[in-house]
Amino acid sequence: MVRSRWTASASKIFPRYFATKTKWTCSWNTQCLPCRISLDNSIDQVCTGFAAMSRKTFKYRLYPTRQQRERLQTTLDVCRELYNASLQERREGYKNCRAMLNYYTQANQLPAIKVLRPDVAALHSQVLQDVLKRIDKAFQAFFRRVQQGQKPGFPRFQGRHRYDSFTYPQTGFDLGPQLQLSKIGNVKIKLHRQLLGEVKTLTIKRENGNWYACFSCVVEPEPLPVLDNSTGIDVGLETFATLSNGKKIPNPRWYRAEQKRLRRAQRKVARRTNKQSNRRRKAVAILAQVHRDIFNQRNDFQHKESLKIIQQYQTIFVEDLRSKGLSRGILAKSVHDASWASFLDKISYKAENAGRKFIKVDPRGTSQRCPCGAANRKKLSDREHVCAACGLVTSRDHAAALEIQRLGRSLQASTILEIECVA
Ligand SMILES: [Zn+2]
Repeated sequence: MVRSRWTASASKIFPRYFATKTKWTCSWNTQCLPCRISLDNSIDQVCTGFAAMSRKTFKYRLYPTRQQRERLQTTLDVCRELYNASLQERREGYKNCRAMLNYYTQANQLPAIKVLRPDVAALHSQVLQDVLKRIDKAFQAFFRRVQQGQKPGFPRFQGRHRYDSFTYPQTGFDLGPQLQLSKIGNVKIKLHRQLLGEVKTLTIKRENGNWYACFSCVVEPEPLPVLDNSTGIDVGLETFATLSNGKKIPNPRWYRAEQKRLRRAQRKVARRTNKQSNRRRKAVAILAQVHRDIFNQRNDFQHKESLKIIQQYQTIFVEDLRSKGLSRGILAKSVHDASWASFLDKISYKAENAGRKFIKVDPRGTSQRCPCGAANRKKLSDREHVCAACGLVTSRDHAAALEIQRLGRSLQASTILEIECVA
């Protein structure tokens, strides 16, 4: 059973009974709906509301001087070189003598490398070690996927524009009025919000020529007062999302305007076919900035909307998008796909931190059934939901949200029943 990222990191006290029973069989033989749905995914993702420490990243803009900028860039270049070299060593070690190198064999060579290369010696030692840890992680992920029978990609050599960050895993930095970085200097930082929790690592990141400091902190959960309600959320194409009380979250106003800007920037790049030219390089930078703007706006919008949902509802039911198969077919517009998934991710981690419940349900048939249980066949073009059995007339998305809520509630009821049976 694959646990989602946030449950895996959530806590060691994650109750075992949620994970042990994976197949639900109806003890009363009523063949009720939840019994026919495999609980493999859903039960595992029940957010239990237990207090657990969680990791949060705080990101701040840096304003380095020209010299500091150069030093940051040099650090990145050296790190990238080390990354590529250690990757090559692993590849050739295996090719030539079937030797499996690990982190320690490579890290033990660092002192010798430093003697030969003063530019490597000029970097903070733990930053260098972290580069080798990244390579190790890439290989472990590769072998894990091989073992699971997936088709993994082999770890790649990183080009100049691909390698964008380096990490201080423990020491080498200090935050005062300025950010003190070992071997780089005191860098001006804009602390636009308070840093919370205990700082564990610091990653310095380059994005579109700007530099950022990302502090990964362990933070205490901030539980909200317990409520006695729930909601189902249907994500859709017409509106961004629909709640089961009929409330619609519309697609934001900026969306169309930004799409237009994006198209123009893309055309500009496409017209400038000489890959070496300065004019093309500038056009690419503009395109990257448009993408960044869209990302920022969307991120901000999603943070605000997910926070509202968390504040209003105790239990939140959503569709499990993994099995919806949106990545194929006519609706495969990556924009939609990505933004839904990240929206649900945000709800998920906020729910965990606030002691709310976040439950994913099987999305199959949620738009083809009435919340009363009767089948209700609809084509994608049918935007209205009209049920002959119970007389419910509403929009398609609202009916789906109601059905998601109903499914979720029945799942929840069966889970509680199960725990009682086991106990
Ligand atoms: Zn009905």
